[in-house]
Amino acid sequence: MKILVANLGSTSLKWRLFAFEGAQFSLLHKGGLERVTDYPAGINECLGQLKQAGAIQDESELSAVGFKTVLAQTVTGCVELNDAVLEDMEGGNLIAPAHNPPYLTGIRLFAERMPKTPLVGLFETAFYQWIPDTAKRYGVPDSWYHAGVRRWGFHGASHKFIAERSAELLGREDIAHRARQLYVDQGKSMIGDGDCRVISCHLGGSSSVTGIRNGVAIGNSMGLSPQSGLPHNNRVGDLDAMAIPFMMQKKGLTLDHVIRDLCHEGGLKGVSGGHNDLRDVQAQSDQGNQDAQLAIDFLVAEIRRWIGSYYLELNGIDALVFTAGIGENRAMMREAVCAQLGNLGVCLDPVENEACQAAEAVISHEDSPVKVMVIPTNEELVVAREVKRFLEKNS
Ligand code: ADP
Repeated sequence: MKILVANLGSTSLKWRLFAFEGAQFSLLHKGGLERVTDYPAGINECLGQLKQAGAIQDESELSAVGFKTVLAQTVTGCVELNDAVLEDMEGGNLIAPAHNPPYLTGIRLFAERMPKTPLVGLFETAFYQWIPDTAKRYGVPDSWYHAGVRRWGFHGASHKFIAERSAELLGREDIAHRARQLYVDQGKSMIGDGDCRVISCHLGGSSSVTGIRNGVAIGNSMGLSPQSGLPHNNRVGDLDAMAIPFMMQKKGLTLDHVIRDLCHEGGLKGVSGGHNDLRDVQAQSDQGNQDAQLAIDFLVAEIRRWIGSYYLELNGIDALVFTAGIGENRAMMREAVCAQLGNLGVCLDPVENEACQAAEAVISHEDSPVKVMVIPTNEELVVAREVKRFLEKNS
């Protein structure tokens, strides 16, 4: 069974093609196009490259195209992307303006180009279907909650991969197996009291922290939208809701202006004075730019705030995991996040940490009660596997 996973940005199209034989998989092809202006041509180019590489002879060999869809108003899980689901996703455009519209456009173009191929989405919110009710709520009137103002949680595919792999590295194949079966067995019965406790830090262009008990998420630092939680590259992170009426009334900002500022001018960019890639922020800081250093310190402090929250909730942890662009590549950030946590059992090995660059490794001292790990994430594999299950269940 061959499943193509398409990753859609507003001007980019990346893909991975997986082949499955039973539970075994192989990656047949991986590619991407940047600065795409003509999306239909981009899709043709992708299919052309798959044929040229000999990964497929014909498009009919693709059992499905899978998408890491972000947010819909009511739907989550792994579902066929039919008209009703796409309409439900449209309802999420306002709260995920950077993510949902490119997906909707891309999915519709794939549907036109490949009308016979099932298009299936694994929503980023799916991993949080079994979080406690307390982790879903804001202190808003009930009518707001029923209108959809609730915490969802995002980066679900990435954190689920970490849940599986960290359990394997902890020698808990039983938990890894449960985590892999999560969507099949519907989570509920698996949470238990929890003797395998992990905090996963996905730190990249957008960042989030998740607490995981026995392979099941207990919450995520992002809430209603992927703008919330930790500060992101140019998106705001958590903010007191009263800041919005304050800026609208006092400074005369329009709603569009507020949305633009929160979604494009905030986060690391806002605090550092204009730099949104951590490499650039670091370079600025190295040159003595104090705002840039403040942006880095602020991100670290917010990561620690969320780690603290889940550490308490989980009554201690077995592993603290770093993943994604910053988490996999930036030893200094990992060191700053883990600083002075010895009393909590987190003892980083500075040599192992420094040596680890974009590779899987345990970077804590041998006798550290909490294992600190770097695990390169594999979101596309999680999507492909769930799409395969969806097809098998519905065939
Ligand atoms: P996404 O934008 O989808 O979150 P990534 O997880 O790859 O993608 O994260 C990209 C971010 O990771 C960049 O904006 C940058 O801040 C950071 N990053 C990537 N590579 C490095 C690196 N070698 N050193 C430091 N930061 C990096």
